[in-house]
Amino acid sequence: MIRADITSKFFGDQQVLGPVRFDIRPGETVALLGPSGIGKSTILRIMAGIDTRFEGTVTRPDNMAIVFQEPTLLPWRSALDNLLIARPTLGADAARAALARVGLSGRDDAFPGQLSLGQQRRLALARAFAGAPEFLVMDEPFVSLDPEMAEQMLALTEALIAEAKPATLFVTHARAEAERLADRTLVLSGRPATLTDSLPDTSNGEHA
Ligand code: ADP
Ligand code: MG
Repeated sequence: MIRADITSKFFGDQQVLGPVRFDIRPGETVALLGPSGIGKSTILRIMAGIDTRFEGTVTRPDNMAIVFQEPTLLPWRSALDNLLIARPTLGADAARAALARVGLSGRDDAFPGQLSLGQQRRLALARAFAGAPEFLVMDEPFVSLDPEMAEQMLALTEALIAEAKPATLFVTHARAEAERLADRTLVLSGRPATLTDSLPDTSNGEHA
């Protein structure tokens, strides 16, 4: 069980989050949707254990992976080493297979600076999935890609989630991404931000 039970989060005297409570079941993909600056990344950092300065409790497995908005690769290490450093037990063959799975076969020795932004994002995805995480957290993994690249990343992420079935929490400000990838969508609004009950019904396409 993955559970967020956040009572409040302040930056200085600014309260960014009010009560935010949700569960994620094993294998479930949940989108966290809301406008820029609302507190999505803040929740994600709390869920990932990076930010411990909040009121409340979070329950999550140790075996988790994070995909940040920017790929956060080690620039002086090859694509293969970026995988192996993150997952030392993986072994070179499995790491090569993981690179091939995201369309980076033959680029094992390339440094991140020699890869396009799209390729760097795919390497970060490969790294995240390489450890077979029980819990995967992604912060706007498809922003600032051109539409074709974003679509490729979306399809790849969808396929990797379907194969590995981690519980997934992914942050987006794009409703279409949430609807495509998620079993369930949580919507943040207000200041301090809280979860609104549910997404307005979009089944008639009115808000699509
Ligand atoms: P989102 O990811 O939804 O765009 P964030 O969670 O990054 O929003 O930020 C929520 C709010 O908290 C914003 O108003 C932002 O300016 C503020 N904030 C985020 N990080 C910090 C920080 N380290 N110090 C002070 N304020 C911050
Ligand atoms: Mg953010």
